[in-house]
Amino acid sequence: MKYFIFSDIHGNIEALNAVLAEFDRESETGELIPVCLGDIVGYGPNPRECIEVIRHRRIFSLAGNHDYAAIGKMDISFFNPYAKDAVLWTKSVLEDEDVEFLESLPIRKKMNTINLVHATPCNPEQWNYLVTLYDAQHNFECFNTQVTFVGHSHQPIFIVQKQSKDCWVHPHPILCFRNGWRYIINVGSVGQPRDGNPEASFVIYDEESKIVEIKRIPYDIVLTQKKMRDLSLPTYLINRLEMGR
Ligand code: ZN
Repeated sequence: MKYFIFSDIHGNIEALNAVLAEFDRESETGELIPVCLGDIVGYGPNPRECIEVIRHRRIFSLAGNHDYAAIGKMDISFFNPYAKDAVLWTKSVLEDEDVEFLESLPIRKKMNTINLVHATPCNPEQWNYLVTLYDAQHNFECFNTQVTFVGHSHQPIFIVQKQSKDCWVHPHPILCFRNGWRYIINVGSVGQPRDGNPEASFVIYDEESKIVEIKRIPYDIVLTQKKMRDLSLPTYLINRLEMGR
């Protein structure tokens, strides 16, 4: 089985459509399963349109913290002021059917040989960030598949663990799994990348060849920014898109 995995769309329909156009192109060469790791909404100007596309295409999706926040399922007092403003705006535009859909999304999923969560393999409902190798070490103990795919930090990364439990970051965008080694892979963000590259990020994983690759695709950032400006969404959120920060 081959998977096309992406995360953190954040109401950015231009970025989502660019990624799904890439999915359609890649699908021409064989069956590809699309998977979304959550945060369909929050920050961006088109939360309803993004939900509609995911629903219409019947793409499996997990719930992210912003999806929960937008339907009042979690406390947003710890969100930064920009995220909070964007969540409140998102909440104000969602219709009942959107809320019902977001409500139905699971928080973790095992799909054949892969494990999927939005935040961390350990206690995914706490929405912690997996940023250090120390965090990774502990998180490898919370799943029993060879690989877990995560989103949440908006920074694509491959973390590798040897049998000896030593962990490190694989520095290239392509990787072939070794027997006995284990992996935590952050697929980056579709709608608000934060690794210095503003292009939408996604991953393709081939379960048979065990090859995984992080890919980037440009989208119409200027149009997304214009929509955000027209809606008076926070300037900080508008500017960060072009910097990928
Ligand atoms: Zn996110």
